[in-house]
Amino acid sequence: MTTEELLHFDREHIWHPYTSTIDPLPVYPIERAEGVTITLKDGRKLIDGMSSWWAAVHGYNHPVLNAAAKAQLDKMSHIMFGGFTHEPAVELAAKLLPLLPPSMEKIFFADSGSVAVEVAMKMAIQYWQSQGKQEKHAFATIRSGYHGDTWHAMSVCDPVTGMHGIFAGSLPIQYFIPQPSVKFREKWDEKAIEPLKDLLKKHAGEIAALILEPVVQGAGGMYFYSPAFLVKARELCDRYQVLLIFDEIATGFGRTGRLFAWEWAGVEPDIMCIGKALTGGYMTLSATITSTPVADMICSGEAGCFMHGPTFMGNPLACAIASASVSLLQESGWQEKVKIIEAQLREELAPAISFPCVQEVRVLGAIGVIEMKEPVNMAVLQKRFVEEGIWIRPFGKLVYLMPPFIITKEELSKLTKGLLNTLSEEG
Ligand SMILES: *Cc1c(COP(=O)(O)O)cnc(C)c1O
Repeated sequence: MTTEELLHFDREHIWHPYTSTIDPLPVYPIERAEGVTITLKDGRKLIDGMSSWWAAVHGYNHPVLNAAAKAQLDKMSHIMFGGFTHEPAVELAAKLLPLLPPSMEKIFFADSGSVAVEVAMKMAIQYWQSQGKQEKHAFATIRSGYHGDTWHAMSVCDPVTGMHGIFAGSLPIQYFIPQPSVKFREKWDEKAIEPLKDLLKKHAGEIAALILEPVVQGAGGMYFYSPAFLVKARELCDRYQVLLIFDEIATGFGRTGRLFAWEWAGVEPDIMCIGKALTGGYMTLSATITSTPVADMICSGEAGCFMHGPTFMGNPLACAIASASVSLLQESGWQEKVKIIEAQLREELAPAISFPCVQEVRVLGAIGVIEMKEPVNMAVLQKRFVEEGIWIRPFGKLVYLMPPFIITKEELSKLTKGLLNTLSEEG
């Protein structure tokens, strides 16, 4: 198949994320990826600024992860998890649990981030059902959040600025409060917790759980807020008897400068979701984790068990790779690497604030965000980035970098230079 044929078939028959069949966005045929270098079919090489959406923290084609995958393939790539268990799942759980909040003791392996969120929401409902509180069926969250594309995950994504307003009429109604008004390094102001307090005071009787992306909101706004909000939210959830869910699917595995973002606040959730970088970007795998009291309450209800069990639950191949990825991360000196990336992003992105098209520049951990005044033309901007030899996928008003942690100083400079060159042309 020639590249022309490949592109033609793709255009005619294959859907890409958030694209039109009538007027599809351009796609770039890729040949391979290694380290932080993406090689296109035409031979051009791009420095990766996206980690394939938060996931590929070790870069691509990593010998250790490849070896883990190959070793597991020779034993079994999959076996049903109903009635069986295996070393890859047990080893992964044993490695993960000590890295999570101490109360998190029961782990449910699921197949994608969205499913992990669905599972967390179902757990919250069953927890209250077991206590005869059927009326606690709704969820609370903050605006500009993103929790996935499946039905109930979508219902807690921002209904307006998010991508799902169009389904609003057929989605369950949830309770939204404004984004925490105190930003990440700002001094705490008690006013920032008032909306949550008011909401819970009025509606806690209907609310099963509050779901949040701790400290960093991802795809919904790339917004960094004060960890003090989480401390106050925890107090309020306890006072008003509402479960607290932390969605760490994007923030997990070192991206914000802490292994998990709850550490910034030191308060524990009742239920937690992880995914994305769990397998180092190799395969889809996620997990929902909860405490023993919450798990036991769920299972003491009418059903006598938790009502979920995907076909590919605990997939051995994904678990084996995840296990290798977690160890690799722990041995990689990621704290130092993320610190260095953060300092360099801060320094090299700062000049963008003088561009007339730029609203704000913000950096936290290995995340650099340039918020534009107007939404960008993705196809045009992406083409320019590719010409600069860099891979960045903007979204709406947000142009952001979240490179693999293995990126070198020179490679990161190439990314920031290419990005600033392109944006300076925007005015
Ligand atoms: C990406 C993401 C999800 C959804 O994960 P998928 O694997 O794409 O289903 C959920 N929550 C957050 C915070 C995410 O960043």
